[in-house]
Amino acid sequence: MDSLVYFSTWTSLQAAALRIVAGSHIWLEDKHLAWIDGEVFRIEGQNAHVHATNGKTVIVSISDIHPKDTEVPFNGIDDMTRLSYLHEPGVLNNLAIRYAKNIIYTYTGNILIAINPFQRLPHLSEPHTMEKYKGATFGELDPHVFAIADVSYRQMMNEGKSNSILVSGESGAGKTETTKMLMRYLAFLGGRSRTGGRTVEQQVLESNPVLEAFGNAKTVRNNNSSRFGKFVEIQFDNSGKISGAAIRTYLLERSRVCQINSPERNYHCFYFLCAAPSEDIKRYKLADPSSFHYLNQSTCIKLDEISDAKEYLATRSAMNTVGISEEEQEATFRVVAAVLHLGNISFVKGREVDSSLLKDEKARFHLKAAAELLMCDCGNLENALIKRKINTPEGVITTTVDPNSATVSRDGLAKQIYSQLFDWLVNRLNASIGQDTSSDRLIGVLDIYGFESFKTNSFEQLCINFTNEKLQQHFNQNVFKMEQEEYNREQIDWSYIEFVDNQDVLDLIEKKPGGIIALLDEACMFPKCTHESFSQKLYEKFRNSKIFSKPKLSRTAFTIQHYAGEVTYQSDHFLDKNRDYVVVEHQELLNASKCSFVSGLFPSGLEENTKASKSSIATRFKWQLQELMETLSSTEPHYIRCIKPNNTLKPPTFENTNVLQQLRCSGVLEAIRISCAGYPTRKIFPDFLCRFRILAPEVLMERNNEKVTCQKILDKMGLQGYQIGRTKVFLRAGQMAELDARRTEVR
Ligand code: ADP
Ligand code: MG
Repeated sequence: MDSLVYFSTWTSLQAAALRIVAGSHIWLEDKHLAWIDGEVFRIEGQNAHVHATNGKTVIVSISDIHPKDTEVPFNGIDDMTRLSYLHEPGVLNNLAIRYAKNIIYTYTGNILIAINPFQRLPHLSEPHTMEKYKGATFGELDPHVFAIADVSYRQMMNEGKSNSILVSGESGAGKTETTKMLMRYLAFLGGRSRTGGRTVEQQVLESNPVLEAFGNAKTVRNNNSSRFGKFVEIQFDNSGKISGAAIRTYLLERSRVCQINSPERNYHCFYFLCAAPSEDIKRYKLADPSSFHYLNQSTCIKLDEISDAKEYLATRSAMNTVGISEEEQEATFRVVAAVLHLGNISFVKGREVDSSLLKDEKARFHLKAAAELLMCDCGNLENALIKRKINTPEGVITTTVDPNSATVSRDGLAKQIYSQLFDWLVNRLNASIGQDTSSDRLIGVLDIYGFESFKTNSFEQLCINFTNEKLQQHFNQNVFKMEQEEYNREQIDWSYIEFVDNQDVLDLIEKKPGGIIALLDEACMFPKCTHESFSQKLYEKFRNSKIFSKPKLSRTAFTIQHYAGEVTYQSDHFLDKNRDYVVVEHQELLNASKCSFVSGLFPSGLEENTKASKSSIATRFKWQLQELMETLSSTEPHYIRCIKPNNTLKPPTFENTNVLQQLRCSGVLEAIRISCAGYPTRKIFPDFLCRFRILAPEVLMERNNEKVTCQKILDKMGLQGYQIGRTKVFLRAGQMAELDARRTEVR
């Protein structure tokens, strides 16, 4: 993979040998639609005069236009590598044609592109459809999630090798729904006939609603957005039956527990609980969700079409199915209620400087309620919030804190409790489903946040984009490998093609010492360090970096050139967010809880000296990611790229520019570019002959085999550099346009 040339844009590549004549159908760039089509009616030097389909006549440089395939079938083409013209507008047009007909799945070689239909399409998921895909040769049936799952399963069974399915896409693109379909299909293949009791696959499927209740929330992008990454490993025995499963989760969004913006919501479970049957409401001292600070910061309390009361019962029932006991469920929701009460403990200035008091009777009521539910001492809870112990050379002294710090302390406690509860749930699910540690046949399904670039980006975005850089590297290496395999299969010579390696961005972030995470950890160790001084350090360190820059008017932001585009991060809360050391006072308080469930969430001493408890969030995340990548590298990967066709979250709009951006971020365009740099057009012999026999009718009379006939036509056209494989003709960029132009002339 060294001696290579990388084509930064395929535009230049395609234009290199492009032949456009009067009568050619072409694509030209458009400000609103990204690309529109038209027909050339005159060529003048380097310019083409075009009648565009929007009714306008335009003059464009030939180097800015792409040939359009006029023979796209009614339902589009189900594998984009078979497009006659593999370029951006061709790809986009094909997806749009299909989406308009509710065909949401399309392959690009082995990669499945899934466009969110925003409506139930029952024919895609009914049991009958599962039957159909079972054991079917890949590519024979319409592209489908089930086909990917089926291939993975068969590869695993036939070759005894673990497989993984990586589902990615931006928030709301359909990753979680796709993951659930994959799991249902795998449960269908590897399920046991029921002999009473709960089966492993049922427990795996029912773990979804449990995780979603505690880890999903309504956001502007998705009404049921997962706020954590998830890797589910399904284990099979030698006969191909599911024998166990393990769920690993990544980076739950902690800030959401205490802070939400309109019109988003907090985690579903809070609202579910507030709509619980009256005895639960009474027991947990609950009231309307709008009376809780952690929920009423947003105007959105209720979701259309979702009954929180029903969901509460459904969650309890799913918890039953996965084997979480009645007592554990009670404790879980008790802790959730305690978090709500914590949020209503507000403070005012105390008599002394830098001290605080509970604001009023209401605050005291919630303090009592929280303490009661957590089964800890009320006075100790109050002290844990408004006082702080400090180690001095003279020993430990206790000081008071101002209302602002008390509030920060309260929110820190709430976040800590909630994230410990979430981790407990995941562990509990794993324990209940059971692991088959002897299994060496696994299928892993990864449902993880896609690349993010918002108006303001913070620590979470850096972690998320770091994840995506890692996955992108893995993806590129594999696409490259698959491409190589296709050339080998067809037994054609293959000159190396380069792909963008993003190792430099990974180094920038994770290198130790000297990477951003390492510098952040260092900053977090020094109490005097601020986000300003941290930023200064970054600016100095990466002054000469090509992929790191300082925005002109800022002293605390920094910009990273990611593979999917530039992202500017605001470093304001980086230090706080990265520090996740459990506050000693909080730890002691909850460890002393009379409820073993609560004290179990905050075990004492045990972990004090372990690596994990001493490390920052970013570093722990880095380790988790490393482990994930190791797991993935030992498996045969399959990719599903989910695309969100519009931001209204409704059918049927297909927004070109929006989709293009996602294709770019998901690496699909990059994959296509890798193909483009070699032989972007591949046509099996019969298709090639059907289209181009008109160029050499005399050759067809000779009655040679298809391969020879193709060869003779290409020879006659005087093309160079193409290759003829075992079953396909491989054309260089521009050669398809050349042949089509000749065809237009002949006709
Ligand atoms: P992500 O996990 O990528 O954020 P989800 O999988 O939660 O996105 O999908 C968001 C919403 O889009 C779902 O709640 C559902 O309404 C709709 N959706 C996604 N995929 C499908 C599908 N295959 N069929 C029907 N609706 C879907
Ligand atoms: Mg999701």
